[in-house]
Order: sequence, then structure tokens, then C-alpha cells
Amino acid sequence: MTQAVVLFGSPGSGKGTQASLLKDCLKVPHISTGDMLRAHVRNGNALGVRVADTLQSGFLVRDEVVNQLVEQRLADPDAQSGFILDGYPRTRDQAEHLCGWFDGRGIRELVIHLIVDYNVIVTRLTGRRQCPRCGTLYNIVSNPPRKEGVCDLDGTPLVVRNDDRESVIRQRLAAYESQSRPLIDFFREKGRRLFEIDASDQTPEALLFQVCRTIRAPEAGQPALSG
Ligand code: ADP
Repeated sequence: MTQAVVLFGSPGSGKGTQASLLKDCLKVPHISTGDMLRAHVRNGNALGVRVADTLQSGFLVRDEVVNQLVEQRLADPDAQSGFILDGYPRTRDQAEHLCGWFDGRGIRELVIHLIVDYNVIVTRLTGRRQCPRCGTLYNIVSNPPRKEGVCDLDGTPLVVRNDDRESVIRQRLAAYESQSRPLIDFFREKGRRLFEIDASDQTPEALLFQVCRTIRAPEAGQPALSG
């Protein structure tokens, strides 16, 4: 059985942190469209050049581009027993595309919606720092590195991601509200397996415990009732 987990939630809801903890538990790859797109930008290839401005401004990259990227990645050998999707789908077109892909393969995905209070999100995003070498995320308030300004794992000076500037954060949150949040109703209407976890006020480890419990026994969990 393919273990397909879709982590859904606003920017700053902790999807990336959960996905990277979860991949070690489930032994399946963490597939983040944001990370994939940023890798193309860093490589400076044709796709990277095309999407760089969109990423910098906080708007969404075109559906055809992202759909193709994900489909190619899901065909890789390491994704055959399962995967964790982080940051995809984000629009109705992407969700329809993905659900069609799942249905064509008889895969029953599990969508986990991490719910986080709007003010907590803004604090998290403005305090976010990242190691440019290994990608580890920190937060100057809630999850600071041991030594100020440098990565615990490799000592590299931490940076503010370009799209974590305030005006861009506002645009990313606006894109989430108008294009992504409505997918909660889409998943529900289509009878997909959707579960919600309150992730506002928990350590990453405590949240991981709940996420794992939901994945191990989804039928015993609380299905999502409200958007
Ligand atoms: P966050 O969830 O914090 O906004 P991500 O790393 O997931 O950060 O995404 C960064 C940027 O990459 C987005 O603002 C958008 O421009 C682009 N992106 C990522 N995933 C998608 C997607 N599924 N569809 C369209 N654009 C995407």
C-alpha cells in the first residue's frame, strides 16, 4: 500500500517542520514544491529563471508547471512506497489533478490540515530564519538556534528567506486565503480523507505525536467538521 500523506495548511503552519520530522518516522520522502522550486532557482536553469520572480513576490507559480514537477517527482523510485506532500496542492486545479492521479492508481491519501491562529502565523513567519546550507528552519522567538544567528547543525550563518519579508508574507497569506483555503471544502465535498489538528500552540514533537497517531489510525480520528 502506498502511504500518501498531504500536509495542508497556511504558510507558517509548520508543514515543513512536520514533514521533515515525519519522513524519518515513515521512511518516505518529503516532497515540498517550495523546496523544489527554490532548488531550480538556485540552479539557474530555465524553469528556475521562469519562476524566480513569482517566488520573490509571494504569488503562486502556474498550475501546469507545479503539476508536472510533482508528477515527475512522484514517479521516482523512492516515492513508490509513499511520500509526504508539503505545499501541494494549493489550488483547485492542482487538487483535481492530484486526486485524479491518486484515483487512477487506487491510492487513498490522507490530508492533514494543520490549523494555526492567524497572529501566531504572522509571528512565526516574521521570526523565521533558515540555514542556507542544510535548510533547517529556526524561529528567533519559538525555536532559536543554540548560538544566536548560526545553524546548530553546521555552523552556517542563518538567513531570512527573501519571501519572508513583510510585504511578501502578506501576499503569501492572501494567496492562501483566496486560492488554498477553499480546498478544505473541496476535499470534504469530494469525500477525501481530511483530518484537522490544532497546531497553534504545540511543540513540533507534540504535534508530530498527534500527526503520527492520525496516520496510524485515521479511521479512529476526528474527521474535519469545519473549514
Ligand atoms: P510557504 O508555505 O511558507 O509559503 P513554500 O516553500 O511552500 O512556502 O512556497 C514558497 C513559494 O513557492 C510560494 O509562495 C509559491 O510562489 C511557490 N509554490 C510552492 N508550492 C506551490 C504550489 N503548489 N503552487 C504554486 N506555487 C507554489
